[in-house]
Amino acid sequence: MTNRIPIASPVRTAAIVNRYFVHAKKNLGQNFLVDLDAVQGIVRAAGIEPGDQVVEVGPGIGSLTEQLLLAGGKVAAYEVDQSLPEILANELPEKVGGQDLDQRFKLIMKDVLKADFATDLAGFFDLSNPVKVVANLPYYITTPIIFNLLESSLDFTSLTLMMQKEVAERLAAQPGSKDYGPLSIAVQTQMSVDLALEVGHASFMPQPKVDSAVVVLTPLEKPADVGDRKQFNRVVKLCFAQRRKTLANNLKTLLPDKEDREKLLADLDLDPRQRPEQLAISDFIRISQAIAEMNK
Ligand code: SAM
Repeated sequence: MTNRIPIASPVRTAAIVNRYFVHAKKNLGQNFLVDLDAVQGIVRAAGIEPGDQVVEVGPGIGSLTEQLLLAGGKVAAYEVDQSLPEILANELPEKVGGQDLDQRFKLIMKDVLKADFATDLAGFFDLSNPVKVVANLPYYITTPIIFNLLESSLDFTSLTLMMQKEVAERLAAQPGSKDYGPLSIAVQTQMSVDLALEVGHASFMPQPKVDSAVVVLTPLEKPADVGDRKQFNRVVKLCFAQRRKTLANNLKTLLPDKEDREKLLADLDLDPRQRPEQLAISDFIRISQAIAEMNK
């Protein structure tokens, strides 16, 4: 009977928890989705179609995985909790679209931050085609996971990620807003950011203390030319080191010499009294390029 009830439901999740004596591990950011509407909302936001190659981070007991498979996805999932392989093998459907589960699902027991996508996925995915990344993220490592994916060699068409609403707002923030900062800038130079849906506490077991939102990140056709990306991110971080202070003040770490700072800001036609959150992404690119020139 239970097999016909989706894993993304309070009754099936409770049955799994009782059957395997599992408990959600706080230190691994485990908050299982028990709301089918929310899970299907994520699958829709990701635009999963039959034949899609999907990389999932943290399948947990399989609530999102199951719906990704039922939508036609072929899923490779990274997980670290050693109690989960047995549960996933038993609780995910044995057959999906007429195929055995192991033809459609591969579990990679590895910290996703240490993923070597080309090696891990070879043989299961056709890596000459792009993948879609879909996850209800472990919130304690949301930002490193996003940066790792952006810096990886993985060819993806989109990242559809559930995260804390606060981080989602930072990703999407525009100049002038209190959420605008290094994370918004680093991501928006490469990706378009769409807030797809918000998900309430009651959709999870156990319920998280923070609000959640699903964000779809899609690579820009023309990413901004920021030069050396590491250097650019460093410059932006230092410009925001003290949000309340002026740009001229924050630039002191990068350019200790007062004359250098004044010249740079005058050359770029920037008001030294502005606060970093008032600057457009293009201004940070110009600042970073000018500093690189001065250091040549
Ligand atoms: N996808 C499931 C769901 O929606 O119900 C579980 C999501 S839960 C928020 C996050 C999952 O990520 C957990 O299963 C956790 O064990 C896993 N996880 C935590 N740290 C991880 C890491 N470094 N690499 C891979 N998975 C990780």
